[in-house]
Amino acid sequence: MMAQYIEIKAAHPDCLLFYRMGDFYELFFADAEIASRTLGIVLTKRGKHLGEDIPMCGVPVERAEDYLQRLIAAGHRVAVCEQTEDPAEARKRGGKSVVQRGVIRLVTPGTITEDNLLDPARANLLVAVARRRLSDTEWAYGLAAVDISTGRFTVTEVSAAGLAAEIARLEPRELVVPDAVYDDADLAGLWRETRAAVTPLAREGLDPASAERRVKDYFGVASLDAFGQFTRSEVAAAAAALAYVERTQLGSRPPLSPPSREAAGGTLAIDAATRANLELTRTLSGERPGSLLATIDRTVTPGGGRLLAERLAGPLTEIAAIARRQEAVAFLVGDSLLHERLRQALAAAPDIARALARLTLGRGGPRDLAALRDGLAAAGALARLLAASGDLPEELAAARAALETPDPALAGRLAAALADDLPLLKRDGGFVREGYDPALDEARALQADSRRFIAALQARYAAETGCRTLRVKHNNVIGYFVEVPQATGEDFLRPPFNETFVHRQTMAGAMRFSTVELGELEARIASAGERALGIELAIFDALLGEVVAATEAVKAAAEGLAVVDVTAALAKLAADLGWVRPQVDTSLAFRIEAGRHPVVEAALKRDGAAFVANDSDLSAPEGAAAGRIALVTGPNMAGKSTFLRQNALMVVLAQMGSFVPARAAHIGLVDRLFSRVGAADDLARGRSTFMVEMIETAAILNQATARSLVILDEIGRGTATFDGLSIAWAAIEHLHEVNRCRALFATHYHELTALAERLVRLGNVTVRVTEWQGEVVFLHEVVAGAADRSYGIQVAKLAGLPPAVIARARTILDELEKSDREKPVSALIDDLPLFAASVRSAPAAPAAGPQRDGLREALDAIDPDDLTPRAALEALYRLKSLR
Ligand code: ADP
Repeated sequence: MMAQYIEIKAAHPDCLLFYRMGDFYELFFADAEIASRTLGIVLTKRGKHLGEDIPMCGVPVERAEDYLQRLIAAGHRVAVCEQTEDPAEARKRGGKSVVQRGVIRLVTPGTITEDNLLDPARANLLVAVARRRLSDTEWAYGLAAVDISTGRFTVTEVSAAGLAAEIARLEPRELVVPDAVYDDADLAGLWRETRAAVTPLAREGLDPASAERRVKDYFGVASLDAFGQFTRSEVAAAAAALAYVERTQLGSRPPLSPPSREAAGGTLAIDAATRANLELTRTLSGERPGSLLATIDRTVTPGGGRLLAERLAGPLTEIAAIARRQEAVAFLVGDSLLHERLRQALAAAPDIARALARLTLGRGGPRDLAALRDGLAAAGALARLLAASGDLPEELAAARAALETPDPALAGRLAAALADDLPLLKRDGGFVREGYDPALDEARALQADSRRFIAALQARYAAETGCRTLRVKHNNVIGYFVEVPQATGEDFLRPPFNETFVHRQTMAGAMRFSTVELGELEARIASAGERALGIELAIFDALLGEVVAATEAVKAAAEGLAVVDVTAALAKLAADLGWVRPQVDTSLAFRIEAGRHPVVEAALKRDGAAFVANDSDLSAPEGAAAGRIALVTGPNMAGKSTFLRQNALMVVLAQMGSFVPARAAHIGLVDRLFSRVGAADDLARGRSTFMVEMIETAAILNQATARSLVILDEIGRGTATFDGLSIAWAAIEHLHEVNRCRALFATHYHELTALAERLVRLGNVTVRVTEWQGEVVFLHEVVAGAADRSYGIQVAKLAGLPPAVIARARTILDELEKSDREKPVSALIDDLPLFAASVRSAPAAPAAGPQRDGLREALDAIDPDDLTPRAALEALYRLKSLR
């Protein structure tokens, strides 16, 4: 058996092997160690290999899905190896024959279709990467994104600089990367940081000719031209994705749409850091609640939820396409009755895209057919609602047409065929409605009749034997039998009863008998059951055939449902929260009236607080081909970050075709969105906060165009004051003179506000605060001008710094301000009595005792320059013991 195991494992070295043994999937060797660690299950051992114990662990077959899910979530791939013959067969072969086994499927994060392994709200993308050389130093990267759970298939090509952003936009579950690309030192960070499981691939089969052949072959076409023009790297990526899909599905081909090319530049470029900082689809801690997506999501179908996420992740850069979506939303905002009706009809629509994929892969069950029945019915209802709604805008008219594509007869037939209560597996039977098929009804009637006969038989036996407690029962071991109490049973062993009743089992207190009549009835029931199941399976296959034949139409309907859902959801959002349609054009305008931050506003609302709306205007002045920069000052906690982010989110929302949280908005198309907001320390990567900040700032200054929008929060904070001030200063000048983009720049360096006098397109705004009874009060109101002071000490007090420290800080601040920076700080230090001295006179300070003086002496005795690390540590322990 081990020899068989090792052979199978060798064919799947990059997967954990689930090796079926009876009621368990067993894992051995390193696989067992990984699984026991990941799943928290016991590691045992079994036998020896090359003289060493073989580590082993196992999961019960009936709970395998749970364990699979956890392994997949942890990024593992699993090969499921089943027994492919009856163990009796192996015994027949005699001797020590091992049951034949074979891998029946590979389960990988990017190629799953099971409902309980998938997140309904997210696309499940497998992204394959390939590249081609543009010059000695430059590469272009082809990306192919496949979602086999819905059939979506897109390709695109990006520059090396755009690779990380594109991967961040797609958010794949699994990345398939050729070895050479995987091993490229420049990209190592990318593979390490992505949330996707990364699968390196050997290069074989990826030369241009065979790559093209593979794609053509998959779709059964003679030329790819019908699908569009593709670059070499796009074809290579598409081929790699298809090869991987075929490999994991063991040769069966999920129904994918032909590759459609997403033009680079068709979507708003948002790099990974900006995406993370703005918390578009997940928060900084990686969760969906609290993200922009979770806040705006009013969709009611899984497909709609996925489309919304996709649109949010990739806002558009083409005016006409944006306007088309806006028109549709506006149409539904204007007809609240219609959008409510649409949403009601949508609520009844299951996930038909994924049900279809499972069915075509041969993994579907009766409930997937039912999903299609209900989904197609909902599609029909939606199409009728839309048809009755007058002159539809283009997007909704197209959705209506898509919804009408499937032949209504198919939905009708599914409805007629399927029962109300459905089993999960088709082999359990009972899913075909009564009255649908006469032969099936007959077989079922026979079963039912026979059951009635059995009831009658029980009554007859009871009467004939005089035993009122006689029962006819059934179990899987001996089938139908008569059960009587022990005492009566003894009589049954003797004539005349033993002519009818044949003893089978003696239980505690009861005896079991079989009879010829029961045996005959049982055979009739079984054969009727078999016939019924056979008919049901044939009906299933016929319906499946119809569904598969209608694949394209069903996919169109699924897309139509998703589009209507997203549009109605955005309309509801806009109507409920009073959002407006932004004017989006090719100007360099950026003017928001009474803008709000949707996520902060929602959070405040939960606490019963109101959000203070704020205006912003970064529009290029008349005749200038360059936007304005707003320099935002104000104390910490005043609302600077919130203001910055809300303006960036406005662009994302406007360009994805949504309305925006404002009273009015005019946004000239943005090509790239950049943000640099308070990065967390990234010590795991060995980079300080400051280093991360500078890397991100460099990317912005190198890449932002006059069409970009940049938000920079507190740059230069992570270093010495003058360094930081100088860097911030120079960055502003660069943005103003070279990038010429629209920008918001928050800073705590008040000195920078003076720049407004020299840089014509730079304006100062500040977030107002006021003081009341010595406490700072945040008004969250953005007004023209510069902050007069920073209120740092008041904020520190709010945060609960000890009173003694606050008092001391005030003294120092007074001195610093009095000296007006004429005196170097070092001189001030000489002037001001030391902290300890001033604290000792303060009532809150601990009294200075004799031990403290001992401590002081010990401290004085230490010369830090003189200490080895070890001596320093010892000194620390000594000091601690003196406390
Ligand atoms: P800063 O960046 O100036 O330190 P933040 O933008 O982080 O300040 O805001 C601090 C807190 O103030 C937020 O968590 C939010 O609760 C509140 N806040 C910010 N802006 C507003 C606003 N416009 N209206 C109401 N509350 C706000």
